[in-house]
Amino acid sequence: MEDTIVAIATPLGVGAISIIRVSGKEAFNITNKIFKGKDLNVVDTHTINYGYIHEKNKEIDEVLVSVMKAPRTYTREDSVEINCHGGIATTNKVLELLIENGCRLAEPGEFTKRAFLNGRIDLEEAEGIMNLINAKTEKARDLAINQLNGKVSDMIKDLKDGVAELLASIEVNIDYPEYEDIEEVTLSMLNPKIKAIKDYILKILDDSKNGKIIKEGIKTSIIGRPNVGKSSILNTLLEEEKAIVTNIEGTTRDTVEGIINIDGILLNIIDTAGIRDTNDFVESLGVKKSRELINNSDLVLYVLNNNEEITNEDIEIINNIKDKNHIIIINKSDLETKLDISKIDSSNIIKMNTIDFDGLNELKEKIKEIFNLSKLELEDLTYLTSARSIAILKQIKKSIDDIEESIKNDIPINIIEIDIKEIWDKLGEILGNSYEGELVDKMFSKFCLGK
Ligand code: GDP
Repeated sequence: MEDTIVAIATPLGVGAISIIRVSGKEAFNITNKIFKGKDLNVVDTHTINYGYIHEKNKEIDEVLVSVMKAPRTYTREDSVEINCHGGIATTNKVLELLIENGCRLAEPGEFTKRAFLNGRIDLEEAEGIMNLINAKTEKARDLAINQLNGKVSDMIKDLKDGVAELLASIEVNIDYPEYEDIEEVTLSMLNPKIKAIKDYILKILDDSKNGKIIKEGIKTSIIGRPNVGKSSILNTLLEEEKAIVTNIEGTTRDTVEGIINIDGILLNIIDTAGIRDTNDFVESLGVKKSRELINNSDLVLYVLNNNEEITNEDIEIINNIKDKNHIIIINKSDLETKLDISKIDSSNIIKMNTIDFDGLNELKEKIKEIFNLSKLELEDLTYLTSARSIAILKQIKKSIDDIEESIKNDIPINIIEIDIKEIWDKLGEILGNSYEGELVDKMFSKFCLGK
């Protein structure tokens, strides 16, 4: 972190203002070389300074320069932000001059990476910053801000403190067995304490599903035999014509995607080819994909035609999706009923049609009910959302299962202590207390340039 880094922090294009960000030991010295105005080394910290950027006395732009002295800065290093006029030529020129005078072009996410390496934020908070930038809905933003401001980290720290307490009490026992006034930790005493930690972890993991829904949306596939109205339903939901609607069987060869917003939660809808077995090669590709999609979806909408009899195949597929989040849509409710509803083993059945939109609201309400979306309205959105952290927490949960097994088998407490210590280390990994350089590089490379 010896280098002083620079990047354009605003999107490159025509706009009123562009911001160029500089961070590092030489931030003020380098900027001073191209800035005509006050000496940035002597001005007060957190001030905005008016002046000109120049190249060999030729004026390049009229600017405002924010001076922020370490450590109260984003990176904890000396930092400068130059507000120059927007537009590609000016912004690039200022960037070029800073590089000519000793800055290095920052990698994506390098400012935030420095904030992490300098101990200002932990990895959860860093991911919160990225999620805030990428948030597409108000809820996703609320979720990200709770991650950024440390609420998610506090939850993990809580858990870590609980494990530390347990470790401390075991260690006192092992190190000072002769002290009678210290409560002896026995395996049976360990059990409820381990269980409490496990319960907390299970709750965090369970809640993280809500986090995933808010952050990524609900992956929804529309499945059913050809011609039942899948594309029409997608279009009705999207309220725009995106899929090809036709009455020639098997026209929707591949998947069509669309996104709708239900009370702040995104529904990522995938329309599939008919799931029916067929000899047509292209079509059967679609069929295979449909089956894969059922497995990968958070929600399956299985569509039937009210005007046709239900087939054995329909019944088989409905049985297959029974344990998944699903809704059976009986479409074409405007036509004569030929479908025997009593053959469907599901309580999530909606009747609708795409001609006069009958049942559409009921469908949306059912989705809200299945995912308990009204609960998300009221909750404080402090959920673990990063795949990295969730994976670590799942490993921890597995270790706890092993510890419970060890307790059952009367394994000596000093052996169990080693496993508990590992859990403590792993919780630290979530926050980035210990980290692998490569992993951290990979994580920050997903950030945008200048962040
Ligand atoms: P897909 O093959 O399952 O995607 O079916 P499409 O959406 O292409 O629809 C097949 C045919 O059914 C088209 O002619 C649609 O206009 C018609 N259709 C779709 N929904 C309805 C409905 O609710 N009622 C009626 N009467 N026809 C519908």
